[in-house]
Amino acid sequence: MTPRSHDGGSEALRFFLMPVPPLSKRERASRLLGQPVLAPLRGRRAALRILAYHRIVAPPWDDFRFDEQIISATPEAFEAQMRFVAKNFEVVGFADLEKCEIEGKPWPSRALIVTFDDGYRDNYTLAWPILRELKLPATIFLTTGHIGAQKLFWWDAIAFAFNTSDLPSVEVPELGQEPFPLATPAQKRAAIDAALSYSKSVSDAQRRDFVARLPALLEVNLDENVARGMHINWDEVREMARGGVEFGGHTVTHPILSRVDAEQLEFETAHCKAEIERETGQNVLAFAYPAGTRQRRDPAARAGVEASGYRFAVAYDQGVEQHPDRFAMPRLHVDRDQSLSLFRANLLFPGLMLR
Ligand SMILES: [Zn+2]
Repeated sequence: MTPRSHDGGSEALRFFLMPVPPLSKRERASRLLGQPVLAPLRGRRAALRILAYHRIVAPPWDDFRFDEQIISATPEAFEAQMRFVAKNFEVVGFADLEKCEIEGKPWPSRALIVTFDDGYRDNYTLAWPILRELKLPATIFLTTGHIGAQKLFWWDAIAFAFNTSDLPSVEVPELGQEPFPLATPAQKRAAIDAALSYSKSVSDAQRRDFVARLPALLEVNLDENVARGMHINWDEVREMARGGVEFGGHTVTHPILSRVDAEQLEFETAHCKAEIERETGQNVLAFAYPAGTRQRRDPAARAGVEASGYRFAVAYDQGVEQHPDRFAMPRLHVDRDQSLSLFRANLLFPGLMLR
């Protein structure tokens, strides 16, 4: 989503948006705005920043077999980002927000929450040591059906099937009449994107059926070893919980919530919460909608999350709001191609950068 627009900043911004390829407009603007020297100008209006990460993965990524789109940062980039955040913001958790509300206090004016979606094991092996060293809290949204399980997420299964296939091309009836060429990484990426879009557009059952048939179609062996060690296990969750990491719900099977019936909606939200609470002893306050952009959320999903006892829900809409809807809180995406200056500029000047 686009945050409420700013004042005269757009004129100044346009000046910096001159065509100097290959940097994107945002990257060019961030070269100026992301300078540490401008940090004191930041945030005249206090607004909660929520960073959205998925995976922290060390390079090289050239032969990455899974969904590379959800690599958020290298360990080095993540560490630099966290050092910046520690210096310029008050890093809190959802429990801190809840406490403020109970005590009738406003949220801290420089509040920032670090979140991770899905529950990949690299959150434990690569992100957690950095967070612990810097004494920063974070919230990890867990897909409980995958905790400690040797089972790929459906988007990783799709990416794996195409990326490891030796076929020169493939016909996928669901994705149209034309065969997909698979000779280059770019061609594979195009096929993966088409399969991901299709999977998000159909019912949960159709999506499961489609993903289950892909390995055979692509002549790929997808046994359980492929997913070994890919997801956090409950011992690791408990260790992080003791060290100050907060856990939130992200469903049991990661369906698109607008594509499931009422019974499954309750299972995906309430069972997920109960399981995390039982395993950690923590009160689970927050939920992250799977693939939670505005188009894919619906009132029923939101009502289901609220009825299951969550107190906050984060979306995948890009933005920062001064008074966010507590069941559709926007976040700031972090992705692997983002420079540190763009990261800084997004945080310090979201009104300028995220229009
Ligand atoms: Zn997710």
